[in-house]
Amino acid sequence: MATILDGKALAQKIQSQLQQRVENLRHHSGIIPGLAVVLVGNDPASAVYVSNKEKAALKIGMKSEIVRLHERSGETEILLAVKQLNERSDIHGIIVQMPLPAGTSTEKIIQTINPAKDADGLHPQNLGALCWGGGMRAPRPCTPLGIMTLLDSHTISCQGKHAAVLGRSAIVGKPMALMLLERHATVTICHSRTPDLQTEVKRADILVVAIGVAQKVQGDWLKPGAVVVDVGMNRLNGKLVGDVDFDSTAKVASAITPVPGGVGPMTVTMLLANTIAIAERNLIL
Ligand code: NAP
Repeated sequence: MATILDGKALAQKIQSQLQQRVENLRHHSGIIPGLAVVLVGNDPASAVYVSNKEKAALKIGMKSEIVRLHERSGETEILLAVKQLNERSDIHGIIVQMPLPAGTSTEKIIQTINPAKDADGLHPQNLGALCWGGGMRAPRPCTPLGIMTLLDSHTISCQGKHAAVLGRSAIVGKPMALMLLERHATVTICHSRTPDLQTEVKRADILVVAIGVAQKVQGDWLKPGAVVVDVGMNRLNGKLVGDVDFDSTAKVASAITPVPGGVGPMTVTMLLANTIAIAERNLIL
């Protein structure tokens, strides 16, 4: 059976280190790192994610604020909320919970976040810095950053490996591919128009799946010994499942993330880490 890449346990360990950094910051400068989440509408899944982020932030001594906007809020209202948060000195990290209501330009909202407070690392300036490589200090997208941290904690090297990333979203797939490339993997990005997904998966030493299709990837698709990272979060018969069929893949993979308890807790932890790093950097500037 594959080694379980336990994101929950690693997240707890990192969060206790982050708690110490929050305490140091408060002690030496009186600054409490503040995270603000803009939540538009009543999507139940978004409400759970936002509440988890708030609980995690408060638990390690950070300030947390949820700006709740009505689902019929227009783009102007959302932009105004973001601009107000940009101006506040007690808020170091800002995120806007996705998805946004139809008719709202996600790009426009993301571009309005002050890039220096972009805790999700999705502002084009920060994604651009990721594209340039490690020399630029900029917040990085939380999910792929959490995945790299999880791989590092198990000393899984990417160098010279063939990595396949299924999904090409700006939040997960594309930045994930860039981070694997930065670590010298040869990367293939697949999407809904990739003609033969199984052949691409079969070549992968490291497989990251972020497509939002429940249990799509099966064990017999894999190269034996592959490392499998399942980003998916899908509801199936009332149960949370990933994009990978865990039972069949765990028999073939050398390591695998569970759902829940794999990538999800790491994403939340990287959001806290990014916000704390921004607060610490403000102190230096
Ligand atoms: P997204 O924006 O909907 O993107 C999905 C991507 O998958 C697209 O690039 C799409 O291709 C591709 N795709 C869809 N069906 C496919 C198929 N049958 N075969 C191959 N590719 C396919 O989703 P996302 O935001 O990246 O999220 C993906 C999943 O990860 C979701 O389940 C989401 O809930 C989960 N997620 C989890 C976390 C976490 O912390 N655990 C964080 C973020 C997201 P096209 O571009 O061609 O349409």
